[in-house]
Amino acid sequence: MDNSLYSIRMRSSRNERHLSGAEKLASAPRLDALAAAMVRRALEHDKGQAEKIYVTVEKVDAAQVLRVALPDIRTVCAESVEKGRAAALSRLIMAGVSAEAARCAMQAMIAGAAPDGCSMRGAMLVDAVNGQRLENDSQRGVRVSRMDIDDAALCCLQDLLQPAGLDNIHVKEALVLAAKVLHAPGIIAELCWSDDPGYMAGYVAAPRLGYVRFPLLKPLGVEQGGRAFFVDPAINLAKLTDYLERQVVLIDRVGRLLPDERWPA
Ligand code: AMP
Repeated sequence: MDNSLYSIRMRSSRNERHLSGAEKLASAPRLDALAAAMVRRALEHDKGQAEKIYVTVEKVDAAQVLRVALPDIRTVCAESVEKGRAAALSRLIMAGVSAEAARCAMQAMIAGAAPDGCSMRGAMLVDAVNGQRLENDSQRGVRVSRMDIDDAALCCLQDLLQPAGLDNIHVKEALVLAAKVLHAPGIIAELCWSDDPGYMAGYVAAPRLGYVRFPLLKPLGVEQGGRAFFVDPAINLAKLTDYLERQVVLIDRVGRLLPDERWPA
């Protein structure tokens, strides 16, 4: 078996609804163990046991892999979901998103950004100036794919996050996804909170700000979550979507963990 690099990804569903997904880049000898772990994850998901599980394995061209660093990480604490959302809104504006666009996207995520009022499978693309939705399919959205962190950088990341109590799968996977998104052409910022009813934290990430966590962005028990990628209106959407969905990105460096802040300061 040679050491060619593969993208391995899983998506699962239950009652015809998206349940969970996972992404890795790995050499051939690691693929069987990773596939088994992904299937187990889909079967043991907090939101219920998967009914359909798809695992896709695809060889990638090692020469085409883009290597990037993780953003710096900061936590901004606020005492309620409302204040957390106000803090996130203010960071989006600092990142260059208009207040109108930030509010529209947040409102869509609160209501459930898919047409049926549920969470989308992927992300909204939002014009950072006028707040218009730009994705072709508002049920699926844009799915960021083909990214991972290498073993050495993952060790450094765990050492960085562990003392802060942040060494969990939500934070690590979100950081890898955000790192890829922040290196996309024409991205102004990202807003995310989870669709996992037990996970209330979320983040704003932006090239100008790094990755800013908010421990309270969603009330406990709420299933609507989502992601919004705010884009420069002049961006070529086909190119951006191709980068997000198809460009292979490997994280090989971590950023810094910056001191916590409170909001309002
Ligand atoms: P999660 O943080 O995994 O709970 O996901 C929160 C929301 O982000 C989901 O409801 C989706 O709308 C979106 N999302 C999840 N995974 C991806 C992805 N790979 N690419 C784009 N959006 C995603």
